[in-house]
Amino acid sequence: MKTIQTTRYQILLAEHSGMCFGVRQALETTEALLKKQPATILGQLAHNPTVTSRLAQQGAQTAQLAGNSAPTPQVIITAHGAADRDRKRWKEAGYQVTDTTCPLVKVAHAKLAKLVSQGYLPVIIGKEGHVEVRGLQGDFPNARIILNPQDIKKIPHVKRIGIISQTTQAIDRVRDLVKEVRKQRPEVEVVFYDTVCHPTKDRQSSLKELCQASDLILAIGGANSNNTAQLARSARTLGCKAFHIEHPSEIREEWLKGIKKIGLTAGTSTLDESLQAVARHLQELAEPKKADIVSFDFAGSARPAIHSQRVHES
Ligand code: SF4
Repeated sequence: MKTIQTTRYQILLAEHSGMCFGVRQALETTEALLKKQPATILGQLAHNPTVTSRLAQQGAQTAQLAGNSAPTPQVIITAHGAADRDRKRWKEAGYQVTDTTCPLVKVAHAKLAKLVSQGYLPVIIGKEGHVEVRGLQGDFPNARIILNPQDIKKIPHVKRIGIISQTTQAIDRVRDLVKEVRKQRPEVEVVFYDTVCHPTKDRQSSLKELCQASDLILAIGGANSNNTAQLARSARTLGCKAFHIEHPSEIREEWLKGIKKIGLTAGTSTLDESLQAVARHLQELAEPKKADIVSFDFAGSARPAIHSQRVHES
């Protein structure tokens, strides 16, 4: 765990935090494309306003994935993926499609396809309306979406149920829900493919460690970032005082009263510079007159390239 010491408190950085390889790769591909030609992003590349405005400054346009026209001949599918029929529709309408779907989102689509081909009723543990879930549901309109034990009643009474998860769900919650499905439907054959991605799992397990070491947790990410909100929620569930912030200016002095250790984490769409900005601001609050503000040293830290993922079946 990286730390910065001030005279007032210590600032700790979760071992795994911030932008994942999937969003990083989508961002790099998009920025490289924008250097050559104008392009339209179909939706939000990342649920992060800083990323959105950075891309807008480079000339990126936006349009709805579900729509049928874009202001440029080149369109980009985001890391969250899309249903095949949407991909096809844009191609057939004459657009050049650059697909930045994360390989681990593709794994979730492939696993759901396998379950359907084997005759299981497809069930997705995820947030209704989330772009990744909409993509999965677009490929398998018969899929049921569940997120809470109360949702299990939405699953029809069939003999075989095949479950996958949205890649960014909390793995503990997913496992509990699968257990609950088995408990409520003991007569049903239930197959579960764990498609929660490893960057999400890494961030969640690092959070546990961070919570043990901190008096206060700040989860940094766009206000619309589901997984940042989830990190703050998980920290609270673990018994930590925790806040979800997008900008350093949201930090309130009263949060810091009596705090000796502040843990920082960030969602999978948060840029390193946003993390550094919060660390800098906390140092300025602790030592307003100090000239040498330091940054976390990311050199050699996990800012990974593409990984493959083994999917567990149970
Ligand atoms: S959160 Fe996971 S699935 Fe989503 S883009 Fe990042 S690595 Fe890929």
